[in-house]
Amino acid sequence: MTRLIVALGCVFSLLVACCASAALAAEPVPVFVSILPQKYFVEKVGGALVGVSVMVPPGANPHIYEPRPNQMVALSKAKIYFAVGVTFEETWLPKFASVNPKMRIVHTEDGIEKISLTAHHHHEDKGEKGGHTEATTIHEKDPSAVKDPHVWVSPPEVKTMALNICRTLQEFDPANSSTYLANYQAFVKEIDELDAELRRIFANKKGMKFMVFHPAWGYLARAYGLEQVPVELEGKEPKPAQLKALIEQAGKEGIKVIFVQPQFSTKSAETIAKAIGGQVVFADNLSPEWARNLREQAVKFQAALR
Ligand code: ZN
Repeated sequence: MTRLIVALGCVFSLLVACCASAALAAEPVPVFVSILPQKYFVEKVGGALVGVSVMVPPGANPHIYEPRPNQMVALSKAKIYFAVGVTFEETWLPKFASVNPKMRIVHTEDGIEKISLTAHHHHEDKGEKGGHTEATTIHEKDPSAVKDPHVWVSPPEVKTMALNICRTLQEFDPANSSTYLANYQAFVKEIDELDAELRRIFANKKGMKFMVFHPAWGYLARAYGLEQVPVELEGKEPKPAQLKALIEQAGKEGIKVIFVQPQFSTKSAETIAKAIGGQVVFADNLSPEWARNLREQAVKFQAALR
């Protein structure tokens, strides 16, 4: 009799284990993104069906970020990695693929017409013999190969990214395909409303300029007919001669505000601001509150445009 009870007990616990694993199957799909705004995009499309981890934490610089060991452990359990084309991915995506070969890596920026950064490069190389190596390397590269990665600051480009996210989730989890589609359509509506609002904000500002330390707003400028004037050149602080030229340009154009972002040094921006009697204002392109942040930044840019 005791044996029978034990045997029944075993059957019962097997049943419990079985049901528990069925419940586990319905848990959110673990996915990774590179930067905080992408968390917003993937959660809009995936809703409660996805669990999003962000590789580059708040305050870190996505151009040079190095993932921590505990992030690599979490990554080994992820099903999808949503890349965005930001610089650290060049080095790290191959490593992510070797840590988790089954994980799907999706380039959400696919289909976006990228801005070529070399078109805006200043060629003020004075030919100093010493520190010449880096500049030479950059100039010898195929100019069309250097692209602006900051696609997420422009609502029209984010629509392309949302569609890529939606298609990926539909393929990975066909049972919830219609949910992803409905979420995507609602997100597109939100993006269109934001886009219309930004068009109104910038309606009478076509061709006007704003000065930024780190040139992260090129796609916003392209979408709304503005021009971004970068302080930083090829990822480096400007040399004294370049700084002087920027101060002269700011003075000539009546520019009074230099936008900086929290992830970067503000030294040369402050030098320019002091020289022109202007001010340094924060403009963060990596906020997790993507739509609200863009709206707020647009208003700040509008007031500073010259
Ligand atoms: Zn950047």
